[in-house]
Amino acid sequence: MRLQDKVALVTGGGRGIGAAIARRFAQEGADVCLVSRTEAELEAQAQWIASQTGRAALPVVCDVSNPADVERAVAAAEERFGRIDILVNAAGISVAAPSTDLSFDRWKACLNINLDGTFLFCQAVGRGMIARGQGGKIINITSVVAHAGIPERATYAASKGGVRQLTQALAVEWAKHNIQVNAISPGFIMTEIVRDYIRRGIHKPEKLVARIPAGRMGQPDDIAGPAVFLASSDSDYVTGTILIADGGFLANGYV
Ligand code: NDP
Repeated sequence: MRLQDKVALVTGGGRGIGAAIARRFAQEGADVCLVSRTEAELEAQAQWIASQTGRAALPVVCDVSNPADVERAVAAAEERFGRIDILVNAAGISVAAPSTDLSFDRWKACLNINLDGTFLFCQAVGRGMIARGQGGKIINITSVVAHAGIPERATYAASKGGVRQLTQALAVEWAKHNIQVNAISPGFIMTEIVRDYIRRGIHKPEKLVARIPAGRMGQPDDIAGPAVFLASSDSDYVTGTILIADGGFLANGYV
C-alpha cells in the first residue's frame, strides 16, 4: 500500500493506460478522480475501483483541452477529497498522416489535447499543491516519439516532445515546493489507439515486435508500476526524469 490515503487525479482514466494506472493507484490505497469525455467508461472504472479496492472513485466528464472544463474538474476533485496529491496526465490522442496532407485543424487538435491539456491540468492542480504547501507528484505520459522520429506522426511527435520539455521546465520551477514532476515514455502498448492502428494497417505488430528486445508489445499494466514508483515517496529525490518503459525499443541499436 504505497499510496495509502493519497488522492490522485488521472486524466484519460476511462480506458487504456490511464485506467490501468488509476486501478493500480486504488489497489495501492489511493482515492482517485477519473477524467475523460466518455461518462460510461468513467463510471465502469469507478465501479471497478469501488468494488475491488474499497477506495473512493470520482468520475468527472471533462475535455482536457477546454480550460473551463479543467478548472471545473480540479475544483470537483478538491471539493470531494480536500486536496490532490498526485496528478497523472494520460489523456491523449494520436494522429497519423503524411505531413504533406496533415490539415492545420488536425495539427492543432492533437496539440490542443496532448500538450495544452497537460499544461492546463499541471497549472490548475499545481496551484492547489503550491497553496497547500504539502508538495505533490505530477506524472505526464509522453511517448517514444519524444525521443526518436516515427514517420507520419508530425503533430503527435511535436505534442509529446512538448510534454517532455514541459515536464522538465515544471520540475525545475516547482522543486522548491516539493513537487516532483516526471514523465513516462511508453513504447507500443496494446490499447485502443494501437489496436485501431493495427486494424488500419498503420502498425504491423510482427514488424514492431521484431524491433522490441522484450519480444512483445506492452500492456497497460506495464505502465502502472512505473507510475506507482513516480507517485510514491520512493521517488522523492527524482524530478525532471523521463522514464522510458518500452521493452528496450529505444535502446535497441540492432535490426
Ligand atoms: P486510449 O485511447 O486507450 O485512452 C486515451 C484516454 O484519453 C481515453 O480515456 C480518452 O477518453 C482520453 N482522452 C482523449 N482525448 C481527451 C480529451 N480531449 N479530454 C479528456 N480525455 C481525453 O489510449 P492510451 O491509453 O494508449 O493512451 C494514453 C496516453 O498514453 C496518451 O497520452 C497516449 O498518447 C500515450 N501513449 C500511448 C502509447 C500506446 O502505445 N498506447 C504509447 C505512448 C504514449 P475519451 O476519448 O473518452 O475522452
